[in-house]
Amino acid sequence: AAKKAGRNTFRFFTQDMNQRSAEFLLLDNHLRQALVNQEFLLYYQPQIDIKTREVIGMEALMRWRHPDLGLVPPNRFIPAAEETGLIVPMGEWVLHEACRQNKAWQRAGLLHAPVAVNVSARQFAERLEDVTTKALQDAGLAPEWLELEVTESTLMDDVNEAILTLGALKRMGVRLSIDDFGTGYSSLNYLKRFPLDKLKVDRSFVIDILDDPDDAAIAGAVVSLAKNLRLKVIAEGVETAEQLDFLEQLGCDEMQGFLVAPPIPADKVPEFLAQWRKKPV
Ligand code: C2E
Ligand code: MG
Ligand code: MG
Ligand code: MG
Repeated sequence: AAKKAGRNTFRFFTQDMNQRSAEFLLLDNHLRQALVNQEFLLYYQPQIDIKTREVIGMEALMRWRHPDLGLVPPNRFIPAAEETGLIVPMGEWVLHEACRQNKAWQRAGLLHAPVAVNVSARQFAERLEDVTTKALQDAGLAPEWLELEVTESTLMDDVNEAILTLGALKRMGVRLSIDDFGTGYSSLNYLKRFPLDKLKVDRSFVIDILDDPDDAAIAGAVVSLAKNLRLKVIAEGVETAEQLDFLEQLGCDEMQGFLVAPPIPADKVPEFLAQWRKKPV
């Protein structure tokens, strides 16, 4: 098609492509090196039971400590890693590290709640059961302490394959949740065929939940849907006490967000837990 459009178009096309792929290769190289140099680390964001105010989970969120750029957030490097496939070994590291850390906190008597790990489509499609089994075994962690977060699009990529993978993970005893629920396209008809434990109400519906009746309606619908399917429901991105009250009224079970804590480095987690025990929000 580029050839047909004439020489000029072709030239511009290849220039763009070259520049884009050059940048891409550079980032890919840096990410490969970062994995070898152990520049990735996990931050943890607490998840709270709205009724009891207990810590019921910790979500592991990846960061890249770049020697020059400092702390790089995941939206700056995960999309590239997903495209090149490097997310597979990176995600494997995340699973191992999250399980190891959870076990260490439990051994120290600091925490008795699962760790939630985000999983990309590529990882999901490449024998996630095996990688998960290995991570749990290496950490000596029982499967019930691990929750895997997948998005609707990951599940809808290949529904029959997804049902098999989720089924295998469920039989192992791992917990399963859908992240960013409501932002992807997912067929409600398939939802009942996925052996899930939890839906995560996307942050975009929480931000304006007090002022935008449409967002409130969608959040309410997700909560009802979860209840009727006998799933737990957690709201992401809760920043104010008013948002929390509103979600509690809707019957939402759990929450995470800046109101309680942003994602925090692993070594600051004990301090957070001690403080939270003394004075929950
Ligand atoms: P996510 O899994 O939906 O994680 C929630 C994101 O919302 C996190 O951003 C978190 O810091 C942010 N957040 C939490 N509470 C609040 C709040 O009250 N207000 C605001 N404004 N933001 C809040 P983060 O850590 O930058 O991660 C972004 C995304 O990167 C994650 O979205 C997830 O999709 C992806 N990600 C992070 N770690 C991993 C990983 O290990 N593997 C994979 N595959 N993806 C990851
Ligand atoms: Mg998540
Ligand atoms: Mg999310
Ligand atoms: Mg997200």
